[in-house]
Amino acid sequence: MSLFDLEGRVALVTGGNGGIGLGMAQGLAAAGADIVVAGRNAAKSEAAAKELASHGVRTAVVEVNVADEASVAAMVDKTVARMGRLDILINNAGIAIRKRPEEYKMSEWREVLSINLDGAFYCSHAAQPAMKASGGGKIINIGSMMSIFGAPFAAPYSASKGGLVQLTKSLATAWAVDNIQVNAVLPGWIDTELTQRAREQVDGLHGNVLKRTPAGRWGEPTDFAGIAVFLASKASDFVTGAAIPVDGGFSIQG
Ligand code: NDP
Repeated sequence: MSLFDLEGRVALVTGGNGGIGLGMAQGLAAAGADIVVAGRNAAKSEAAAKELASHGVRTAVVEVNVADEASVAAMVDKTVARMGRLDILINNAGIAIRKRPEEYKMSEWREVLSINLDGAFYCSHAAQPAMKASGGGKIINIGSMMSIFGAPFAAPYSASKGGLVQLTKSLATAWAVDNIQVNAVLPGWIDTELTQRAREQVDGLHGNVLKRTPAGRWGEPTDFAGIAVFLASKASDFVTGAAIPVDGGFSIQG
């Protein structure tokens, strides 16, 4: 069995129906993993699952709101019932609400924190027993450059993504004994629906990203296939608690 082979593994990807989540799911499916696409928009999830099935793997769709604990528990139950096991969890679902700190309604602050941070904890908490029972697992949390930096339009988003990195470290230390590795991926600026909105909302963003990114381009969802396979496979069995930038050099540019 190759170090990167995922045949016989089952991966659950929240927000796997588009953008970075789908880019990661494509990588996992190409490496042989069966995929459960979890999101709110069922039609979008069905379309993604159909695309993923072209790799010859089993796929399933589960509707979930990751901010709702009961919905998350049901998602994990359905995954195990349909696929027989759960080996890989990608906590990718996330939203951004962009405005200056003084302009947020408290409900908007809570919405961002509850999807981006509470959601990742609910999903990890619900998935851990199934992983432990089968002898191990892989959890991949999707952070951001806002896990490291701040921005005037990103108070709740950066708080959630910074928290996610610390959550990654704590879960990694707790669950190493169960052979569960927990890591974070920190994307740079990636061309997805989320950032198409950002380009409309933040003046000069497009040019600034090109100028600041040593690779000289925006990332694409397909740029996340490789890191997903690495962190989901045996190749990363001694890697845990790490936060790995996938950013074309954005975070190391002085
Ligand atoms: P998208 O908007 O394309 O994807 C977000 C995904 O999250 C969608 O599939 C959406 O599915 C899902 N989602 C949102 N809220 C919920 C919820 N409450 N329950 C379940 N699913 C939900 O954006 P990206 O692909 O860009 O974002 C993916 C992740 O990457 C996010 O965590 C984002 O913060 C992070 N990221 C993105 C960067 C970028 O430059 N694009 C940079 C850094 C981090 P549905 O609509 O079906 O619910």
